[in-house]
Amino acid sequence: MNASLPAEATAALTEETLFVTQPLLSPLEDFIPYLREIWDSKVLTNGGPFHQRLEKALEAYLGVEHLALLSNGTLGLVTALQALRITGEVITTPYSFVATAHSLLWNGIKPVFVDVDPHTLNMDPAKIEAAITPQTTAILPVHCYGYPCDIDAIQKIADNYNLKIIYDAAHAFGVKTDGKSILRHGDLSVLSFHATKVFNTFEGGAIICPDAKTKQRVNHLKNFGIVDETTVVAPGINGKMSEINAAFGLLQLEHIDEALVRRREISVRYCELLSSVKGIHCLPACESPISNHAYFPILVGDDYPISRDALYEKFRERNVIVRRYFYPLISEFPMYRGLPTAHRANLPVASDAAQRVLCLPIFPTMTNEQMDRVIDIVMSC
Ligand SMILES: *Cc1c(COP(=O)(O)O)cnc(C)c1O
Repeated sequence: MNASLPAEATAALTEETLFVTQPLLSPLEDFIPYLREIWDSKVLTNGGPFHQRLEKALEAYLGVEHLALLSNGTLGLVTALQALRITGEVITTPYSFVATAHSLLWNGIKPVFVDVDPHTLNMDPAKIEAAITPQTTAILPVHCYGYPCDIDAIQKIADNYNLKIIYDAAHAFGVKTDGKSILRHGDLSVLSFHATKVFNTFEGGAIICPDAKTKQRVNHLKNFGIVDETTVVAPGINGKMSEINAAFGLLQLEHIDEALVRRREISVRYCELLSSVKGIHCLPACESPISNHAYFPILVGDDYPISRDALYEKFRERNVIVRRYFYPLISEFPMYRGLPTAHRANLPVASDAAQRVLCLPIFPTMTNEQMDRVIDIVMSC
């Protein structure tokens, strides 16, 4: 070992890179029989047998009815807005992955940003009413980090003003309130099965519909609007999940319970070890029994010795790739920042959180030694 190297550089040379997440991957050999079945049937897509089986299996697992698979979560959001014929203005949160608002722009809808609640970083229902105009047709909240939105308050406002609700539930796989799926709320909920999510099909997504008729419309929209050989009822898109992705999802589902258990263990251990660190604040999602522990966000306070970005750099020096989810806010990106509701003065809580947040590594195969490496960096500043 070169004694003249600073401690960080030495560590960087010796320690493996630790990423914020690692995809849940079922054993490869277990997937071979599924592939063989696809090769034998020669059905590769278009709602084949694995597509149908995964829809049924997910409905049973999640405790929902009328789940429609899609090729990814973003097309799920775009299609959900089409399915409900949403137009005009939609109220949403700036504190999310950029796809949330992009789905509105793809539909020619104007996003209207409202601020978030300081404890959960979910959309603050108290801010919604003031943002409603005669053009408002819907609300698009996000169950951020898998922690449920204030669904009752949002529903009440939607009922009062006759607005639709589409939940971006990309983080919320398996989350329940009162023992029932969070996905039963609102008019539609959209899941993402992207590689980085709690449950993945490499790429994938789903729309949870309230009834068979809505699912039928989604099915048409995700298949070019085609009903049969001679009938096209809508300018649909190609949003179908392929048989490979669906088959993989079926296999992944066998491992999801143990993955969720381990996520909870990691989250609880992080909370314990970090609770004594002055200036580091955990969110309610961290310890909550109703969270799926999709992420482990911390907020770096003014009373922590160094800034969030300095801590972010410290992690990088030690080969730990943490992420600033969600910084910058969606409202800061060029296609949004000109909107009247995108100003920081309108979004003080979200703007502050975006400057303080760091998401620490969390994934089912993470070891306690890997966690100790992360904790050690936080404690040594
Ligand atoms: C991942 C994600 C999406 C997009 O899902 P994809 O499957 O990657 O298209 C949308 N919204 C949020 C909040 C996400 O985290």
